[in-house]
Amino acid sequence: MAKNQKTPVADDARESDAEGYQKIDRYNADSIKRIAGKYREVLIDLGEDPTREGLVKTPERVAKALQFLTHGKNLDPAAILRSAMFKEEYQQMVIVKDIEVYSLCEHHMLPFFGKAHVAYIPNGHIVGLSKIPRVVDAFARRLQVQERLTVEIRNCINETLKPLGVAVVIEAQHLCMIMRGIQKQHSIATTSAFTGEFQQDRTRAEFIRLVSKRGD
Ligand SMILES: [Zn+2]
Repeated sequence: MAKNQKTPVADDARESDAEGYQKIDRYNADSIKRIAGKYREVLIDLGEDPTREGLVKTPERVAKALQFLTHGKNLDPAAILRSAMFKEEYQQMVIVKDIEVYSLCEHHMLPFFGKAHVAYIPNGHIVGLSKIPRVVDAFARRLQVQERLTVEIRNCINETLKPLGVAVVIEAQHLCMIMRGIQKQHSIATTSAFTGEFQQDRTRAEFIRLVSKRGD
């Protein structure tokens, strides 16, 4: 099982990938300063005292967190896939399931999180399995809605790898639903997107059966 890539958040952190693409997590100091300044105002407007001990560094922390949580829009997910594509005759379903997803709902800027299950049927090329969670991450680390996230992952794999079909299912909980108003603690939103052979009932049913199997 490919594990999800987690980039540690560190000042001035740089991660490079020997396999051909480079991901840079370098905080933009100017924008951190500007965002932090605005959050200081937000704290005041919320009736807080931004000079009290616990809050002194909060605006800067929030700015850095937001910059990290949205850095996916500076990544090129297609390039991530192209960096590890291999010619291969295999033409059976390839599934990477239970990929951790952490994203931000663009309506409330609150997290939604859960699992993504991605499958494709190769058509001459396969891709390094660890790249699939990276593509999910690149699209998730930005202001999103779950529906678009699902379709963007599908389209990226479909257009880059040109497989016989792609399937993406995402199951997620949205803090904007859970924490505000409608407190249905366990409600999970499920979205799905399919191309090619996954539009046939039999193939799609096989995929759903395989990703629904739990803990064995
Ligand atoms: Zn929301």
